[in-house]
Amino acid sequence: MEHIGQIFRPPSEANSLLLQISLGCSHNKCTYCAMYDHPDQKFRIKKWETIAADIAEAAQYSQQVRPIQRVFLCDGDALILPQDFLEKIMRELKEQIPSVRRIGIYGDARSILRKSPEQLATLKKLGLGIVYHGVETGHDKTLLKIQKGSTAAEAVQSAQLLRNAGIRHSVIVMLGIGGKENSLAHAQATAEILTQMDPPFVGALTTTLVPGTPLFEEGENGQFELPDPWDMLEELRIIIRESNLSRCRFHSNHASNYLPLSLNLPTDKEKALMQLDQVLDRRDGEDLKPDFLRGL
Ligand code: SF4
Repeated sequence: MEHIGQIFRPPSEANSLLLQISLGCSHNKCTYCAMYDHPDQKFRIKKWETIAADIAEAAQYSQQVRPIQRVFLCDGDALILPQDFLEKIMRELKEQIPSVRRIGIYGDARSILRKSPEQLATLKKLGLGIVYHGVETGHDKTLLKIQKGSTAAEAVQSAQLLRNAGIRHSVIVMLGIGGKENSLAHAQATAEILTQMDPPFVGALTTTLVPGTPLFEEGENGQFELPDPWDMLEELRIIIRESNLSRCRFHSNHASNYLPLSLNLPTDKEKALMQLDQVLDRRDGEDLKPDFLRGL
């Protein structure tokens, strides 16, 4: 199995076959992101022969050792690959590894909106079960600043397209990404966009300034100020309180977060708000995950 560079995958794909079909990210401009800054991981699509050989190797494993049920297609925004190429890969997976029940992939508004409803329906038929989408914020001013390459309205449109195709949507938002200056506006706009998107999964991550990224530089020269942990929890409280989700598994238990929560919304809303209120009222550092455990 050929894996070039560092492989990233969502936590829920821990037991999946990680099939690398492209390298890096076609966008690679988000100011906080250092995922694919290694020169080996400059964006490119892998050769069919390499991918086919990896699928053949995985098929053998699946037959002889343990049936593979889930596959995650790497890298960054693999959904941006041409439709016929994605279909070819998924057909091969279906044929060679019939035990596969679900295929997952990273996508964003740019890649989702390039697909027609028919194309998404075909991918769904071929096994695409879930798209992981870093929406980060619903605040357009922040989206522009972090060079996300898409708007809040486009993220909402993406959610609609995926829902219509029957593909699950896992949305990631980032606490603190608006900086101290736009903390409140970011949280309110994020609650608003989540309500409009109404995804079945949401993960809230905490922004960290990674050396080498433009956002880190902005932090160093005073153009960006990261909200403190309490302000980030206040953001989380606003997002949970003001969003209106019909049925959502909501996590804030990423390694980067100060207060891990794992909720079913709306059922656990009041309980979560009470917990956040208590922590925010006490403002006791003992309630927060220490930095050395935050996987920074
Ligand atoms: S789209 Fe994702 S992988 Fe690409 S630069 Fe932005 S955050 Fe990084």
